[in-house]
Amino acid sequence: MKIYGVVGWKNAGKTGLMERLVAEITGRGFRVSTVKHAHHAFDVDHAGTDSYRHRAAGASEVVLASRKRVALMQEMRGAEEPGLEALLARMGDVDLVLIEGYKRDVHPKVEAHRAETGNPLIAPQDATVRAVASDSPAAQELRSLQTPVFALDDTCAIADFILAEVGLAEPAQISAVKQGTHRPDEPSEGLTNRLSDRPSDLAPPPLRDDCFALPAGVDWTPVSEALTRLSARLHRVVAEESLPLQAACGRILARDVTALRAHPAQPNAAVDGYGFAFDALGTEAVHHLPRVPGRAAAGVPFDGAVPFGAALRILTGATLPEGVDTVVLQEDVTATEAMLAFRGGIKPGANTRKAGEDKQAGERILRAGRRLTPADLALAAATGLGALPVCQLLRVGVLSTGDELVEAGAAAGPGQIYDANRVMLLAMVGDMGFLPVDLGRVEDSRTTLKQRLDAAVAQCDVILTSGGASSGEEDHVSALLQAEGALQEWRIAMKPGRPLALGLWGGVPVFGLPGNPVATLVCALIFARPAMGVLAGRGWQTPEGYALPAGFEKRKKPGRTEFLRARVRAGVVEIFASEGSGRISGLSWAEGLVELPEAACNITPGDPVRFVPYSSFL
Ligand code: AMP
Ligand code: MG
Repeated sequence: MKIYGVVGWKNAGKTGLMERLVAEITGRGFRVSTVKHAHHAFDVDHAGTDSYRHRAAGASEVVLASRKRVALMQEMRGAEEPGLEALLARMGDVDLVLIEGYKRDVHPKVEAHRAETGNPLIAPQDATVRAVASDSPAAQELRSLQTPVFALDDTCAIADFILAEVGLAEPAQISAVKQGTHRPDEPSEGLTNRLSDRPSDLAPPPLRDDCFALPAGVDWTPVSEALTRLSARLHRVVAEESLPLQAACGRILARDVTALRAHPAQPNAAVDGYGFAFDALGTEAVHHLPRVPGRAAAGVPFDGAVPFGAALRILTGATLPEGVDTVVLQEDVTATEAMLAFRGGIKPGANTRKAGEDKQAGERILRAGRRLTPADLALAAATGLGALPVCQLLRVGVLSTGDELVEAGAAAGPGQIYDANRVMLLAMVGDMGFLPVDLGRVEDSRTTLKQRLDAAVAQCDVILTSGGASSGEEDHVSALLQAEGALQEWRIAMKPGRPLALGLWGGVPVFGLPGNPVATLVCALIFARPAMGVLAGRGWQTPEGYALPAGFEKRKKPGRTEFLRARVRAGVVEIFASEGSGRISGLSWAEGLVELPEAACNITPGDPVRFVPYSSFL
C-alpha cells in the first residue's frame, strides 16, 4: 500500500486537489483510499440516530452498516489522537492512500498553493514536499524552486507524477514538467548549481560553438545559405512548464497533446426536435410515432430507454437516450401531447452527432511547436484538458550600443541621437510572443559592454544588440566577441545590411545587429526572428509571402537579395520613395517588405513581386 500526501495552507485548494486526484487515479484503475485530518470534535453522525444513541450510552466502537457503506466510529474518550501510522493500520488494503493534511508526517507530499492567499510556500523549507501544484505556476518564486511545479488543475500531470513517485507507473510517463525533480538517492547538486541562474529546469543541451559558422572562403554569403545553416544548428533552449488554459494563449506548445476525452463524449442531438430509432420507421409517406412523456435536454439526460417505435422530445446537445439514433427537426413535425407526424425521407442518424466524431479520446489534438490560439484552448477544454504543457517564455535581451545615444524623451545635445532601436526591438520581441528583457544602453566601451553582457547571460536566453557590429574602430560588439574568440562575422549578400556579429556569450546566442534602424529591423526579421522561434520551441518558421503586382519600377544588379519597405494598396505593391537606410519614417510607413531575389531584375509596374507583410513575422 503506497501513501502520498496533499498539504497546503488554508484555502490553498487541498480538498479540490484531493477530489480531482481521487477521481483521476481511480479512473485509471487503481484502488484509492483517503485520510483527512479534521479538527476538534467533528462528527459524521448526528444526535437522535440509533448509532448516536449507542455511542452516547458509552459504546467504545459502533459499526454502522448498510448495503452501501460501513462506518466504523471509534470514540477516543480522552485517549491520545492516533497517529497516521495507526490510522493506516486500520484501513483495508488498496493501491494508494492519499492523505490530506498531516503536514508534519514524513510521507512524500504535493503542496497545493494559491497565490492570492499570500502564504509562503512550504516546499522550500520541507524536503518531504516533492512538488507544488499552484494556480500561478509561472510566478517567479515558483520558477526558482528546485521542486517540480504543476498547474493546480493539471490533475493528469500531478497524478502521473505521484504514480511515478510511488512506483505505480513508469517514471518515463512524467514528461519533463520541471526537471528540478530529483530523487533523494540521486545527488542533485550538479544540476542545481548548473541551473541556479536559470530557473528553467529542464536543461536542454547547450548550443554548439559553431552554430553560427558560415561557409569558409565565401566573401558574401547568400541569404538563403545563411538561413539554411542557422536552421540546422539551433534547437530549443527553454524548458517546459504546465499552464492552466486561461494562461496559455500565445504560448508555444512543448509537446503533442492528445484528447483526454472524446468530443463529443456522448452521441447527442444536433438540433431541437424528436428522437427515435430509425429502424422502427416504415416506408409510408408520413410517419406517425407515439410520444414518450418527458424529454432529454443538454446536461439533463432522459432517465430510461425510448421504446422501439416511439419518439422523445430532445433538445440540442442532449445525450441520445437508449433507443434513439435519429432526430427529426422540430420544424418538420406536427406534434400533439401524444403523437408526432412527419414526412418520410429522413436519413438514419440524421441530426445527431456521434461520440468522438470530432476527436477520439487519445487522438492528437495539437502538435508541439504550435503557438496556441483562443480556438486551440477551446479544443483543449472540450477534450478534457485543464492545462497544457508549454515552453517557458524565451527571454530575449535587447541592448543598444553607441556613444551618441540618449534615452527617448530625454534632452539631447548636439551630436546625440535618440535610441530608436531598443524600443523597436523590445516591442517586436513582445509581439512575437517572447519575453523582452530590457538591457538598456551602453556607450562604446568594451569594458562596459563586457560587464553588461556578463550580467545579461543569467537573465536571457538570447541577446539582440544593435550598433557596433561592423569592423570599424568603434565597433565594440564585434571587437569584443572577436577578442573572446566567439565572433562569427556574418557578411551576407543582402541590402540593407552591413556585417552582423554573431556569437555565443556564456553559451547564450548574441545577435549583433547593425545600428542603422532600417538594417536593424530587416536583419532582426530575416535572421533573428526564425532563430528565436527555434530557441523558443516553435521550430523554424518561414514567413508567408504573397506574389502581387508591383506598382513601381526598379532595376537591380545581381549579387544581393534586396528588401524594400513596402505596403499594398488596391492589390498593388507600393514601395517607399527613398531607399535611404536612415529613413525610419519609411519603416513606419511600410506594412511589410518586398523581397527581390539575388538575380538581376528589371521590374516594371504589373510584374509580380514577393510581398511579406510584417504580420507574417509574428
Ligand atoms: P553603427 O552600426 O554603430 O555604426 O551605427 C550605424 C548607424 O546607426 C549610426 O548612424 C548610428 O548612430 C545609428 N544607430 C546606432 N544605434 C542606434 C539606435 N539604437 N537608435 C538609432 N540609431 C542608431
Ligand atoms: Mg555605433
